[in-house]
Amino acid sequence: MKIAIDGPSGAGKSTFAKLVAKELSLVYVDTGALYRSIGLYVNRKGVDPKDAEKVVPLLSEISLELKYSEAGQRVVLNGEDVSDLIRTPEISMCASAVSAIPAVREFLLKIQRDMVDKGDVVMDGRDIGTVIMPDADVKLFMFARPETRAKRRYAELVEKGIECDYDSILADIIQRDKNDSEREIAPAVPAEDAIMFENADEIPVTLAKMLEIIKENVK
Ligand code: C5P
Repeated sequence: MKIAIDGPSGAGKSTFAKLVAKELSLVYVDTGALYRSIGLYVNRKGVDPKDAEKVVPLLSEISLELKYSEAGQRVVLNGEDVSDLIRTPEISMCASAVSAIPAVREFLLKIQRDMVDKGDVVMDGRDIGTVIMPDADVKLFMFARPETRAKRRYAELVEKGIECDYDSILADIIQRDKNDSEREIAPAVPAEDAIMFENADEIPVTLAKMLEIIKENVK
């Protein structure tokens, strides 16, 4: 079974992808972690993540690996587990900037397709239904109001002890939506056959609705 969940930042994709994975015994692949890892590498090098001419040569220095265990996905950048380091607002913006560079998307295509080929997955991202898994059994495009998403992201960061400010999180979300949906390559738009799904309820209600849709649509 292949399930694609696309949608804007903070819509709740990862929360529900994880729950669906557990419920249906699928591997949950968080593709944003790959873009974030490249964002982190570029940031550490002191390179402007929007500057494609400087970013592209760095790709040959990067090796990325996804590892899975009971605890979920870990992302390993040149041998270092960076899964926690990539979650800051600064790296979110770097990820969004590098993700608009065609060579970056090309670089990450193989690692994502390999995961798809390995077995049953629920994968979340921006172009899963359109580019990475066009043959997915079910494609969901999850959305929620920017204010709802900012509130959730704020609570998540506070819980992790990361210093942050609600207004700048909201501004970042609006900016990332704009970057992600207006970029020329693989913009974050629903696939033609995607099911639009609003995350507006409590978690158990949303999960139940999602599982129902999956059940109805698995070919
Ligand atoms: O999903 P997450 O917020 O971790 O993704 C970080 C950034 O990576 C997004 O803002 C988006 O620009 C980019 N991304 C992408 N395509 C994907 C997953 C993430 O362009 N499949």
